[in-house]
Amino acid sequence: MSSFPPVSPGSVRTRFAPSPTGFIHLGNIRSALFPWAFARGQRGIFILRIEDTDTERSTPEAVQAILGAMEWLGLDYDEGPYYQMQRMERYRAVIAQMVERGLAYRCYTMPAELDAMRAAQMSRGEKPRYDGRWRPGPALALPPPAGVAPVIRFKNPLAGTVRWDDGVKGPIAIDNAELDDLVIARSDGTPTYNFCVVVDDLDMQITHVIRGDDHVNNTPRQINIIRALGAEPPVYAHLPTVLTPEGEKLSKRHGARSVLQYRDDGYLPEAVVNYLARLGWSHGDDEVFSRDEFIAWFNLAGLSSAPGRFDADKLRWVNHEHIKRLPDDELGRRLLPYLERTGIDPQSGPSAGRVAVLFRDRVSTLVEMAEAARYFYVTPHAPADVLATHLTDASRPALVALHAQFADLCWTRDAIGTAIKANAAHHGLKPGQVMMPLRVLVAGSAQTPAIDAVLALLGRVPARERLAAGLDIDH
Ligand code: GLU
Repeated sequence: MSSFPPVSPGSVRTRFAPSPTGFIHLGNIRSALFPWAFARGQRGIFILRIEDTDTERSTPEAVQAILGAMEWLGLDYDEGPYYQMQRMERYRAVIAQMVERGLAYRCYTMPAELDAMRAAQMSRGEKPRYDGRWRPGPALALPPPAGVAPVIRFKNPLAGTVRWDDGVKGPIAIDNAELDDLVIARSDGTPTYNFCVVVDDLDMQITHVIRGDDHVNNTPRQINIIRALGAEPPVYAHLPTVLTPEGEKLSKRHGARSVLQYRDDGYLPEAVVNYLARLGWSHGDDEVFSRDEFIAWFNLAGLSSAPGRFDADKLRWVNHEHIKRLPDDELGRRLLPYLERTGIDPQSGPSAGRVAVLFRDRVSTLVEMAEAARYFYVTPHAPADVLATHLTDASRPALVALHAQFADLCWTRDAIGTAIKANAAHHGLKPGQVMMPLRVLVAGSAQTPAIDAVLALLGRVPARERLAAGLDIDH
């Protein structure tokens, strides 16, 4: 693993620089997590930059999805969002300066010429590349052709090697002979992608670029431009791609869902952050950790160079663990919108916090919890076959008696539990023979948390009403 010069606290500046094209899935947002955690842990600055220069593919909806996903996950930024489309003048100014200073030059090669150049190179078994025919120098004898709008190319060094010590991949070296002169402005004057990234990373004084390894090929070109501009490159750390369980790159086509879909499906943001963090980074054997622990523990050395595989079951498990850990009131507060979404009026039953405590060990998502808790708010209807299975001629008299006993029982979980057991013994039944029909009558299902706890929380009046209705006796 690479080592880096120590960074002085407070001087770190990182960024997340998404392109707002298509939709943002867990694999994309994971690239925000590490620069965010690094900046937070180092008391540095985290910047959001929207790379929207691909005007054909960028959409306002995608920008909103990015902002919404970051807000939901609590990935707060100190600067931005900056939008590259609002920085065009700055890019043009730097391009003009570079041409003036001889760092970049006008190239009049026509597309057809480029095609011919590449075809010839390939037929000689060479890698296709721009041959530098408009590169300024003694050999350039060509006068600019009339009526051709030139592109601007960066004058890449011809010799030497670009090296950097990648925070994930270790030392990387690329010979300049491998790199041709990159187009930094198109013939209509618009700057190209790699160039905008360089200007932004310099202007925003980024110290650590932590991004997906699909950009590793851009890095030597970006470093050369940065050095030509008289600056030192930041530290680069390239994160391996997130793969599907089958080993495909995670994408919409391969089943990836949008980040906010996980919110709608009842996942906790801290669980998603935890799961995604573990998908490319480790801290010993720790699997479940809080946002604060992640920030405190995060360092570049813990980043893995092996691609992580998205595992939906593991995410569910991590979510379950975080549900178990939330304080009661907080869990209830989180549950509320999910109850409301199912059409329930949370005022019509016990507090969401007390309900959540009953279910926290039994469900993996807040959607499951809201569904499981429904009978606290709405009178359930037990399926006839389930009722018939549990409410038998043997158990019926016990339940009728219990309904009467409940009228003046001290309404606590302990007292209810004791009364049920005594009632069963009195009727010569096993406790389960009373508890199961009780569950079905009160909750509409034979699967509930401990029935004494359910009854205590539901309340005497609704409990007796439901029993009376199910047993067809007078309330
Ligand atoms: N806009 C690029 C992307 O969405 C990221 C560029 C960078 O981080 O340098 O993949």
